[in-house]
Parts: sequence; structure tokens; C-alpha cells
Amino acid sequence: MASLTLPDHGKTLPIGKSTRQASIELARFGQGPVNSLLIGGVHGDEPEGYLFAERFKKELEDGSLQLPEHVSLFICPRLNPDGCAVDRRTNARNVDLNRNLPTKDWTVDFTNPRYFPGLSAGSEVESEITVTLIESLKPTMIMSLHSYEHAMINYNGDCLDLAEAMAKSNGLPPKSDIGYPTPGSLGTYAGWERAIPTITLEILRGQLPDDAYSQHKGAVLDGLAFYKK
Ligand SMILES: [Zn+2]
Repeated sequence: MASLTLPDHGKTLPIGKSTRQASIELARFGQGPVNSLLIGGVHGDEPEGYLFAERFKKELEDGSLQLPEHVSLFICPRLNPDGCAVDRRTNARNVDLNRNLPTKDWTVDFTNPRYFPGLSAGSEVESEITVTLIESLKPTMIMSLHSYEHAMINYNGDCLDLAEAMAKSNGLPPKSDIGYPTPGSLGTYAGWERAIPTITLEILRGQLPDDAYSQHKGAVLDGLAFYKK
């Protein structure tokens, strides 16, 4: 099994390179026993997610935001830096990274080019990095930040209680089903197939960054610290 060198508290390390050789980075805050993982920028045309992740990271760095002691939080603000650089959903090979993970239900079939799953499961370097990251970190929970016209707390795995705790703070509906099938997604790979509670926070598409940050900061913090062990 592949493994990664994980960063120490307060440090950021590269964990791999994208298709176009951009650095993919992982930061760590805290030294508690519970590893939580926050991911942004899987879809490069959803800046609501990666801008939130970057601001959250910055506030942890400058001390304006603090984590409970039981948590070690790992943040990968831009998993798809090539897509983020050109405001494109997919990676540089036109693959939807949230359809490319090696799940049991992965399929080469797709209905819309936006959801092109790649030619084989886990074919993309960004997907390999995701798999290695999860295997190395063994996170207690994962949260991935996206945006959608129907804002919601999409939860995968046995974690309605986690989604409900976040909902108290941000007012969004918890939903286990986003409304269409998502083979090869992180929720299926980690949440359903590996029993790692996984939240896909769908921030309202087009919401201004300041508004998104005020609405979700508390919910994200509560979610990342929800599990005590
Ligand atoms: Zn998305």
C-alpha cells in the first residue's frame, strides 16, 4: 500500500503533482488523536469550495480560528489545481475526478461530458493521490467542499448525526442522496465502501465568498470536530 509523509502541526507539504505538474498540497493543524480531512477544489469551476478551504486554512495559520484539542485537521485546499486554474470542472484530461475513484460501482458510461469518468477507475493522478491520502491518513471523517444550485449537506456513510450537527449551524438540509447516481465519487468510495463518514458540503452556487464563509464556518468547524475518537 502506498503511503505519504504527512505534515507536522502548522506545516504544509506537497503530496503529489497534478496532470499538468501543479503541486497538490496538504496542511496540518493540531496534534489530536482524531484525523479529520478537509478537501476543496475537486471541481475547478466551484470556487465557493476552494476559496472557503483556503480562507479556513489561513485563519488557522494566523490564529483567528482554533480547533478543539482532540483534532488533527488535514486540509487539501485544491485537489484539482489544473481545473481551478482555468475554472473547469474536470482535470486537465477532461475527467470528472468525483466520478473516477475506484469504487465497486465505477462505470465507463456517462450521460454528459461534464461527468466523464475517465477510461478506467482511478486512472487519474489526482485520484491516485486521493486514494493514497485516505490510506495514509485513515481519517475519522472527510469533508469535501463543492457548490451546487441546491445547497445541501450531502452525507455518505452512517453519519446522519454528523450532518444534523452541521445543519444546526448552517441551516442546510442533510441529504443522503443528491438526486442522481454518482459512481466513482468520494462519497461512495469513502462513505459507503469504507465506512468513513463523508460529507459533501454543497455551498450555494454563486454565493459571495464572504457570505459563504459566514454561513458555513461554524458548521465546518463543528463537523470536523464532531467525532471525539
Ligand atoms: Zn462539485
